[in-house]
Amino acid sequence: GSSEKSSKIGSRIRVFVRLRPMSKKEKEGVSRCCVRIVNRRDVYVTEFANENDYLRLNRLRGRHFTFDASFPESATQQEVYSTTTSELVEAVLQGRNGSVFCYGATGAGKTYTMLGTVENPGVMVLAIKDIFNKIRHRSCDGNHAVQLSYLEVYNETVRDLLSPGRPLVLREDKQGIVAAGLTQYRAYSTDEVMALLQQGNQNRTTEPTRANETSSRSHAILQVSVEYRVRDAAMNIINRVGKLSLIDLAGSERALATDQRTLRSLEGASINRSLLALSSCINALVDGKKHIPYRNSKLTQLLKDSLGGTCNTVMIANTSPSNLSFGETQNTLHWADRAK
Ligand code: ADP
Ligand code: MG
Repeated sequence: GSSEKSSKIGSRIRVFVRLRPMSKKEKEGVSRCCVRIVNRRDVYVTEFANENDYLRLNRLRGRHFTFDASFPESATQQEVYSTTTSELVEAVLQGRNGSVFCYGATGAGKTYTMLGTVENPGVMVLAIKDIFNKIRHRSCDGNHAVQLSYLEVYNETVRDLLSPGRPLVLREDKQGIVAAGLTQYRAYSTDEVMALLQQGNQNRTTEPTRANETSSRSHAILQVSVEYRVRDAAMNIINRVGKLSLIDLAGSERALATDQRTLRSLEGASINRSLLALSSCINALVDGKKHIPYRNSKLTQLLKDSLGGTCNTVMIANTSPSNLSFGETQNTLHWADRAK
């Protein structure tokens, strides 16, 4: 029937790749570009190409991937937002949940894509801006309430990034799994949001050995919920909520090498349990499995109501263009290919 059809469409995961520009350091070194994006779709990766023969070589010896869309280094933040996330914002305003993940090695451009800078705000800020714009066009009676929460999962510990303090406990209530005591920030305009999120990002756990640098093992989750009133068939006023989750994942470099091992054997190792559990859930969803193993980590518990089923799920795989990151890039593209 039609409900079956719509749930199938709803649970599909859309997968994108974004290539960042070469950094100054990579340019100054002996670094060559090992990734090419053609026609905003096809991705070629090869270790040995040089500037003149990359396409020919890529076709002969490189790997070829294709995704829903692939963004070359020239792609703007607005373009990435419009192609990947604006559809989800539309669904959230109709009461449907969705989630967008940035996946990739440390330094590949996840935080730039999600948070961005004051001059070039990323998906998180552009999504909130879009929500406010759409609400303004839709209602003039203050019908909608927009609330933000921003939290971190680090070593399976959940912390509030808007109000740092003691770890939060996850509880199951009638709304699902919630972090008890998490700040719900009522937002009224886009202007206040960038500063709020940048401050939150600074509250992310830093690696003890590398002060001032955000830990590559920290996941940051922004949840934007939009509550609004509608009339049902009997003309009663009811409340509806749609929730958008935007996730800047931990660096994938450590998890990938151990993809084949079980979660249990990883205890104690500096492997990211939440990242592996997310991979398992996504693979189970893509394979159409009935049982999705949400319980295996804090990240997947928190996102249980925003992943799979009728939720829209988007994955953005971030990669560096440099051959110095060739191995990571290949792993990231294989992972993304598996999530399609
Ligand atoms: P990650 O969060 O994956 O570790 P970052 O987002 O911090 O990586 O990106 C690493 C560096 O590259 C940062 O200095 C960032 O500003 C820069 N960068 C990443 N993506 C882009 C982009 N698309 N355009 C310009 N600079 C970028
Ligand atoms: Mg980062």
